[in-house]
Amino acid sequence: MNAFTYTAHPARVIFGPAERVADEAERLGLSRVLILCGPLLQEAAATIAASLGDRCAGIFAGAAMHTPVAVTEQAMRIVQDRRVDGLVAVGGGSAIGLSKAIALRTDLIQIAIPTTYAGSEMTPILGETANGKKDTRSTPRVLPEVVVYDVTLTMELPTELSLASGFNAIAHAVEALYAKEANPIVDMLAAEGVRSLVRGLPGIAIEPANVVARSDALYGAWLCGTCLGLVGMSLHHKLCHAIGGTFDLPHAETHCAILPHALQYNAPAAPGAMAILAGILDDPMPARALYDLAGALRVPRALRDLGMPEEGIDRATDLAMANAYWNPRPLERASVRDCIAAAWSGTPPRP
Ligand code: NAD
Repeated sequence: MNAFTYTAHPARVIFGPAERVADEAERLGLSRVLILCGPLLQEAAATIAASLGDRCAGIFAGAAMHTPVAVTEQAMRIVQDRRVDGLVAVGGGSAIGLSKAIALRTDLIQIAIPTTYAGSEMTPILGETANGKKDTRSTPRVLPEVVVYDVTLTMELPTELSLASGFNAIAHAVEALYAKEANPIVDMLAAEGVRSLVRGLPGIAIEPANVVARSDALYGAWLCGTCLGLVGMSLHHKLCHAIGGTFDLPHAETHCAILPHALQYNAPAAPGAMAILAGILDDPMPARALYDLAGALRVPRALRDLGMPEEGIDRATDLAMANAYWNPRPLERASVRDCIAAAWSGTPPRP
């Protein structure tokens, strides 16, 4: 028998028009819903507000990257003043992070409408920033109760960001395949997630408004986000967190540059994961296949192009080696440094 433990998270997931939030709000008995978004998604927020009608208590459009506590406190004042009884987050990880931060403080019900492929809507994880420091916690209190995936809201996600965000999603599935808690259910979700994204992203690169390609990517993002929420992540996510935070690099693009190298680092210790990826990518060297895919999609392949200084390689290595965390292959300083140096310069991963 293949012994394993699978822990599911409660979630109601809807693929359909965002206007479905009105039915969901009614079903959940919500009458004073606050819509949360970033400055660029106010039009979508207004459409959702219209569909909520009297159940809408307002729109807060101040969501920002890395969930600054100061922004959460601003939104909390509105929540209290307007006696808000539910939250609708429309946007990427930033809007959903704000919703989670409010839910942490209030236990309000959350409906998430993701418009990127980052996957935060499916995880019990919240990272908040105060005084330049990011604190990450995992608690079921921040998990959205309902998630509505509406492909029409993703049609205008800028192409470069779409492709980078898709890579961000693939990274969740890749690390889920060799996670400590890996199990056959998560393997299935991860494999289908990678398959859908690898099918969808090239189509988006050619025709950004192709609804079939966009649907594939969104479906894949859901599956990959689910993986992120179900099992622990390893070297790749640790590097992205440490390097992105230290050098203030863009979130999704940092994932693109690091993924092929972190995967290559772990390849010798994760033969099962590599076999699944080799099958999906139709290449015996999955890390190289992802590097080539990044090149074909023209997403960033070098951390130096994102603004990381070369002197930062040693600092990043120190950070990667600090605080023990699980990784399929033990962390060897010289090899970790080589991995970061290759991601910095954007050279192909080597066996
Ligand atoms: P984001 O939410 O910051 O969005 C990036 C930009 O794209 C923003 O300017 C936004 O307004 C714009 N945008 C989003 N959707 C759009 C659309 N459909 N059309 C046009 N513009 C659109 O970026 P992200 O990559 O989704 O999320 C990154 C943040 O989420 C980071 O803070 C990261 O740490 C966090 N995150 C958290 C988790 C988790 O599980 N807690 C998972 C993934 C990411």
